[in-house]
Amino acid sequence: HLPTAELQALDAAHHMHPFTTNNELAAKGARIITRAKGIYLTDSDGNEILDAMAGLWCVNLGYGRPEMGKVAARQMDELPFYNTFFMTSHVPAIALAAKLAELAPGDLNHVFFAGSGSEANDTNLRMVRTYWAQKGQPEKSHFISRNNAYHGSTVGAGSLGGMTYMHEQGGLPIPGIHHINQPDWWSEGAESNDRDFGLARAKELEAKILELGADKVAAFIAEPVQGAGGVVVPPATYWPEIQRICKKHDVLLIADEVICGFGRTGNWFGSQTMGITPDIMTIAKGLSSGYAPIGGSIVSDKIAEVINACEFNHGYTYSGHPVCAAVALENLRIMEEESIVEHVRDVAAPALADELTMLNEHPLVGGVNVSGLMASLPLTPHKESRARFAGNKGDVGFICRENCFANNLIMRHVGDRMIISPPLVITPEELKEFGKRAKKALDATYATLKE
Ligand code: PLP
Repeated sequence: HLPTAELQALDAAHHMHPFTTNNELAAKGARIITRAKGIYLTDSDGNEILDAMAGLWCVNLGYGRPEMGKVAARQMDELPFYNTFFMTSHVPAIALAAKLAELAPGDLNHVFFAGSGSEANDTNLRMVRTYWAQKGQPEKSHFISRNNAYHGSTVGAGSLGGMTYMHEQGGLPIPGIHHINQPDWWSEGAESNDRDFGLARAKELEAKILELGADKVAAFIAEPVQGAGGVVVPPATYWPEIQRICKKHDVLLIADEVICGFGRTGNWFGSQTMGITPDIMTIAKGLSSGYAPIGGSIVSDKIAEVINACEFNHGYTYSGHPVCAAVALENLRIMEEESIVEHVRDVAAPALADELTMLNEHPLVGGVNVSGLMASLPLTPHKESRARFAGNKGDVGFICRENCFANNLIMRHVGDRMIISPPLVITPEELKEFGKRAKKALDATYATLKE
């Protein structure tokens, strides 16, 4: 391929990147990833980089699994595309829907496919509103979500999300979407114990439902563990109370499992880790380990009964795309064959916890938020008071992310939190290597701050 500098120049000139400014690209040039194997990426200069983010929280199987490519090629030869509109179907979509119904908890037995998590959350918005309208309650149309949540970038999903910097662009949120606080005990709960804090944050949902009127509220949507919002692990009291409130007020519960699903928290789904039974689960990312773009909504019997009885005028050309569905099925087959969920629970999560305990001794690290193989380390100038760096603009996180890059490690930062979400196949030895590189990056960040 072309030399790195030329690739970077072309990239900055013609390629518009998500969540990136062109100035940044033009000044520094993107790091160009050319190959990957296991948990390691190789860039265009030949550096081997430990990917502690599994791409974007998705490459759960790790990179370079030859079985996945073989299945994709076979499916492309056999049937590269057919749609699932207007009374047609095909084997990969049928088989994947049936497999997901088997894996999903409770009576979540029906799948509406999409190309991504954002599309799936848009489906949820329309499907839930259609559900209540079909039941004779069209005014039950409002959604409640959480501040700082990320549910995708389309107009609907971006509105469900609670990131104000996203709302500022393009006139979001659309009407009928409301946000309550997230259960971020580390950042906002220093004054109370975690159990009381979790309960108080859950009760905000009830207050919002009562303010709007239960007959107006269609659904509450949240991730079991908030991911892009900073890996916010809720206190144990939070989810049982949320489930109770939703049931009491006949509000549907949507668990966005785009990150938490498919083993990330040590169970197949984050809802199982949190002990809840949602009415709908949003899935994407780990469904195919990121090898093919596919997402969907898994819905309960009671919702499917209503939606299947009407013509739901919604769908995507690539809903249930045969190649993506075949790749997702292969991903799930490998996950079962290699007991990857058990590996997360019994081997990798305890090994990650050891590394996080070591890193928590670092003077910059204020604590550990972790569930299975998703974690965040908030950076602080003062552990005991959980003080924030001045302005809390993410500068410290940014500096640390750059120091990770310099040490051939990818950790993402959300504000002043460092985020960890490695491939689920990561071994204890590889986690030790992660710990070493992360410590070096923290040391370098500490040195910069002292200058
Ligand atoms: N929901 C959650 C919780 C996510 O983290 C994401 C993406 O990061 C999405 C939805 C959107 O998924 P996609 O990027 O596939 O549209």
